[in-house]
Amino acid sequence: MQSYDIIIIGGGVVGSAIARELTRYRLSVAVLEKESDVCTQTSGRNTGMLHAGFLYKPGSLKAQCAVEGNAEFDQVARELDVPFKRTGKLIVGFTDEEKERLRYFIEWGRVNGVPGMELIDRKRMDEIDPSAGGSFAIFCPSSGILDPFIYAIALAENAVQNGAVYHLYTEVAGAEALPDGRHLLHTAGRGDFACRWVINSAGLNSAKVSAMLGIPGYVIQPVKGEYFVLDKKAGQFAKIPVYPAPTPRFTFDTHATPTVDGNVLVGPNSFNVEDGEDYSVSQSGMDGLQESGARMFKHMKREYYIRTFSGARPKRIDPQTGEVQDFLLETREDVPGVINLVGIESPGLTSALPLARRVVRLLAEKETLVPNPHFDPIRRGIRRFHEQDAEEQARMIREDPDYGEIVCRCETVTCAEIRRAIHNPLGVFTVNGIKVRTRASMGRCQGGYCETRITALIREELGKAVTEVELGPKGSQMFTGAVKGGNQA
Ligand SMILES: Cc1cc2nc3c(=O)[nH]c(=O)nc-3n(C[C@H](O)[C@H](O)[C@H](O)COP(=O)(O)OP(=O)(O)OC[C@H]3O[C@@H](n4cnc5c(N)ncnc54)[C@H](O)[C@@H]3O)c2cc1C
Repeated sequence: MQSYDIIIIGGGVVGSAIARELTRYRLSVAVLEKESDVCTQTSGRNTGMLHAGFLYKPGSLKAQCAVEGNAEFDQVARELDVPFKRTGKLIVGFTDEEKERLRYFIEWGRVNGVPGMELIDRKRMDEIDPSAGGSFAIFCPSSGILDPFIYAIALAENAVQNGAVYHLYTEVAGAEALPDGRHLLHTAGRGDFACRWVINSAGLNSAKVSAMLGIPGYVIQPVKGEYFVLDKKAGQFAKIPVYPAPTPRFTFDTHATPTVDGNVLVGPNSFNVEDGEDYSVSQSGMDGLQESGARMFKHMKREYYIRTFSGARPKRIDPQTGEVQDFLLETREDVPGVINLVGIESPGLTSALPLARRVVRLLAEKETLVPNPHFDPIRRGIRRFHEQDAEEQARMIREDPDYGEIVCRCETVTCAEIRRAIHNPLGVFTVNGIKVRTRASMGRCQGGYCETRITALIREELGKAVTEVELGPKGSQMFTGAVKGGNQA
């Protein structure tokens, strides 16, 4: 049985931010994550917006964490080498009624401390982004876009660099209290783990894990959102995220958001589902996105579609009224040694580090935390060949000839980058794991050309059998055997 001071259940962006912040102290920290990587669930299935904080009720934890997370992100992005652009954002409207609702947000923004928000007319919108739909808009200069995959990975890698241990493919299936006050966590096939503190950061499963740890009664409603990813050819027209004015119930319809890498995301729509981890998309949903997306982004054309995806927001709802609740972060006297996070939906990406610091504060109320003198907040990512000038590219190839082999032609990703990604500090070795670290297979052909080469490189670098290499989730083998009775190795 392995034993730690603290175990975090769930290694998404929030669990990884908590792990990173806890390694600032002399504590043994482990993360148990049921999937193959840290950004396969909600943390890798979102818009990648750094929210400003005007969408949330004044005084709520969502508002406080979003404003705090937004303000610090230039520094966070520098420390962790996360692609990030402070683009600003437009929330556009067409009718007088919508204008009224937009005024609410300006007021919420003012109370929450969001800087520089203003209501602007079409003329000013054209100066900011002529491709945006709408007759008027709120302009919010502090909103931004970031690479959500790299952010979760960077937090996790920095946590590992500072001493945290990640156990992937490790699903917590049960828990019990030990006589000495510690917790014993049972996993599905990966043995038992003991700890003094357990932190529930299990996203869509947070209510289930909460009950497992002795705090029943919470209800999570997964709310699905589907997206189109548009080619970089469309990205040249999209300068700034464009959101529609909220509906009368203050929910949002489809928006158009440029990504840090130059694509455009159109979505998400929003509907309740039973199984938040069913990531299929529906034809009717995509048809709807085509129509609503075109209202936000004038260059919405079928020829630009390169992929679809979906994610689900874990909304905590009041079991009686069905009303959506604030983020929940708690410790309970009657269930000692547990820190519980439930319902970390949007703006959870923006709020990951502020939530993590609040977790540390809760812990510090219960015991003295001794600073880790070796903590290093700096993490460096994989250098991207295509972002260098010709002289630097030539130097890189001279030093490592693998930079001379382009594996992903759409995104110009080299063999050297893929080899570095395969040896990532978390030990992720799926094809999707390499994709989110390098962008190999994220381009126009969506891996048609390079996925077999990536599989071969994983096999070569890690000495795996070809049938062991998976696309992503368990059971998604790239190859199941030889077609013509050839070598299976
Ligand atoms: C469509 C959509 C758009 C969004 N857009 C934005 C945005 O633009 N900006 C923003 O700030 N936020 C956004 N969000 C919200 C944001 O993505 C989430 O709040 C955030 O990713 C939550 O992170 P997490 O670590 O709590 O959850 P997750 O990433 O889901 O991580 C939880 C982890 O727990 C693991 N787990 C679950 N059960 C167990 C178990 N029993 N044992 C071990 N591991 C377990 C899961 O496998 C998972 O990896 C969006 C969300 C959605 C769905």
